[in-house]
Amino acid sequence: MTTVRTRVAPSPTGDPHVGTAYVALFNLCFARKHGGQFILRIEDTDQVRSTAQSEAKILEALRWLGLNWDEGPDVGGPHGPYRQSERSALYREHAERLVESGDAFWCYLTPEELTALRAENQASGGITRIQSPYADMDPAEARRKAAGKPGVVRLRVPGEGICTVNDGLRGTIEIPWDQVDQQVLLKTDGLPTYHLANVVDDHHMGITHVLRGEEWISSAPKHLLLYKALGWTPPALTHLPLLRNPDKSKLSKRKNPTSILYYQRMGYLPEAVLNYLGRMAWSMPDEAEKFTLEQMIENFDLNRISLGGPIFDVGKLEWLNGRYIREDLDDDAFADRVVQWALNRDHLKQVIPLVRPRVNKWTDLAPMASFFLDGLVALNPEDLRGIKGLDGDDAVREALTQVSWALDAEPEWTAATIEATLRTLCEQTGHKLRTLLAPVFVAISGRKSATPLFDTMAIVGRDLSRARLRAAVDALAPMSGKEEKKWKKAFDALRASAGTEGAEE
Ligand code: GLU
Repeated sequence: MTTVRTRVAPSPTGDPHVGTAYVALFNLCFARKHGGQFILRIEDTDQVRSTAQSEAKILEALRWLGLNWDEGPDVGGPHGPYRQSERSALYREHAERLVESGDAFWCYLTPEELTALRAENQASGGITRIQSPYADMDPAEARRKAAGKPGVVRLRVPGEGICTVNDGLRGTIEIPWDQVDQQVLLKTDGLPTYHLANVVDDHHMGITHVLRGEEWISSAPKHLLLYKALGWTPPALTHLPLLRNPDKSKLSKRKNPTSILYYQRMGYLPEAVLNYLGRMAWSMPDEAEKFTLEQMIENFDLNRISLGGPIFDVGKLEWLNGRYIREDLDDDAFADRVVQWALNRDHLKQVIPLVRPRVNKWTDLAPMASFFLDGLVALNPEDLRGIKGLDGDDAVREALTQVSWALDAEPEWTAATIEATLRTLCEQTGHKLRTLLAPVFVAISGRKSATPLFDTMAIVGRDLSRARLRAAVDALAPMSGKEEKKWKKAFDALRASAGTEGAEE
């Protein structure tokens, strides 16, 4: 019998997401339940958006939760390297093999030609898939026609018929082939796309079961085609229902903090967060609300996953966390955990340089640095008013929102990147830096004077900073959906004309 091997394969393009932890938890439980192995693989094929900081934080967050992997970029293993950027030669070799067998082809369409083809498709109605004229061309003729233009390798996809995907929860899913793209496998820079790298790695790493988010269902036909073309047995596929906001929309950081590190910073216990994630789409046979990772592993069964969209409700998580604190920690453990949480040496050493110049005795500390320990800060709306250059509450509210969006689009979170982002935003909006920083200062610290803003925000963290900016907007007047749309449109236009990318998500 083959050993069960599962993996979680995050892309290091942002903060460690609770959705990543949810998927990791289910993969870990499945592997452990079957005496198998759980692997962590970093899918950093998107060279522009992937960062080392994001990767480090993902590892830190998963480890904090206690989701320990058997093989991964930090611990190694027999199937490494476990970071896709270190495996390019392997992908290239497989892309060439696919071209040779005729299962893929070189395509030389330029971005302009692709846009034109898309527009044509739209005009003729209904057809969604781009049909590359290079698909059926003799390779020598294609190269001649390309006249030195850079090419990509695309997957050859049947023009008709139905692909059947067997899903561990949904049974058979049928997807017509004509809705499946002639997916790019290798880009003009010779690097793979997610699809090629993912399939090649799952095979070479001996992955037997893939449990991943349901947003990947539409990619399954391409993956199955690749497994067939390469002569490999595909892993068993199970698509987990996506986490949702309480209003049932897809979980998004605009409505809910989504970074695991936010929950750490806010003072949630890792075992409570893990327990809560275990209750997303899954339940214990006795429907218990509170259970340990060991109990979850022992009882893990895919049949106990339900497809109704699981709601990630911070209020419920808080309730569960309270139970852990009150029921499971004696006074010693309580003390240890508080120290571990924010009074630990690492955290204090980040704060000390900022407060040192103004401390004469220890009791000066708390009033000066309490906002490093707070969740949301108490603020007086009056402190957000009367700022020169920001006339009226709405101007302040819009400026704070712009700051939040501009920061969301910045992949790195350090004092230097925060400063650079806000300076760029000032150039785009025409605000003076001093004007823009005034309400941000109040939003982040709850007061008009405090420790240096950029360093403070770097320590407070991205999600908590976003939450405080939003709370300040709402303290003046709650932001309506209509306002948000209007401001976002104006913001995107501003950024597009300045050539800065729009905020993600
Ligand atoms: N890198 C993909 C992600 O970020 C992995 C998807 C998969 O598990 O196949 O979710």
